[in-house]
Amino acid sequence: MWLRYPCRLCHVHPVEPLPPGLYIVATPIGNLGDLSTRARDVLARADLIAVEDSRVTGGLLHHLGLKRPMQPYHDHNADAVRPGLVARLGQEAVALVSDAGTPLISDPGYKLVREARAAGHAVVTIPGPCAAVAALTLAGLPTDRFLFLGFLPSKAGARATAIAEVSGVRATLVLYESGPRLAACLSALAHGLGDREAAVTREITKHFEEAVTGTLSTLATRYAGTGPPRGEIVVVVAPPGPPAPISPEDGDVALAEALTRLSAARAAGEVAKRLGLDRRLLYARALALKEPAQG
Ligand code: SAM
Repeated sequence: MWLRYPCRLCHVHPVEPLPPGLYIVATPIGNLGDLSTRARDVLARADLIAVEDSRVTGGLLHHLGLKRPMQPYHDHNADAVRPGLVARLGQEAVALVSDAGTPLISDPGYKLVREARAAGHAVVTIPGPCAAVAALTLAGLPTDRFLFLGFLPSKAGARATAIAEVSGVRATLVLYESGPRLAACLSALAHGLGDREAAVTREITKHFEEAVTGTLSTLATRYAGTGPPRGEIVVVVAPPGPPAPISPEDGDVALAEALTRLSAARAAGEVAKRLGLDRRLLYARALALKEPAQG
């Protein structure tokens, strides 16, 4: 039973039940002091906590002096467990946590959120630690645009393809990696992206927190030499440098191709938009290119 007033015997302030719904609760990625007051409050008041691993969350609850019912919810049972969880959300407050950090970020949960919302239940977030964002704050690389890649594939071919897909993206890249795969991953990134600046952040918020910066190739050499680093890792890679300036020859090539399909005016307009060049100059050039050679 939930008490609404302080217990007269022990003077402990009771906890009020939470309104029913799904509560997405971020938990620490190392330093337990990073758990927010609100996160603790929601964990204390939830009817049920959906967890990745009950031993991990059990340890956190023990540290907090809490005892709450837990339901494992992970990649291997999520499809079977989800309907039961969604059905409970009408009457109960269910908190979702992952082993560490923000649920749904390279962790299970998005389908639960989607189905809870589709069934008309409240979905509330209690934001907090997230290794990807924490790594960005340590790396000293641009943060105005970033692309989170999660874990790259472990097989070399699939990893190279995944890297090629993002090589033109003008944003800082953030990815999770394990110690044993770090050197090969950095070398693949250097190969696929060019030798950009990067940071290897490790053990964030823990005793041995560090951010090692350098170019991708120097970092690859360093970690190939030292052997796999221990602990948890986030790699942050700088965006590509500014594109090479467009030369008049580039404009001519693009115009010549466009003129095979379009009038001079339309070809000039298309190329001006695509290459960021002056449309009137391109139009004059297009007319010149169209003129049959004299003599
Ligand atoms: N949901 C989590 C979050 O919000 O960051 C991430 C979960 S993902 C399964 C685990 C990966 O996050 C680790 O393999 C590592 O790449 C990264 N990670 C988690 N904690 C970290 C830490 N303290 N320092 C560096 N990386 C960490």
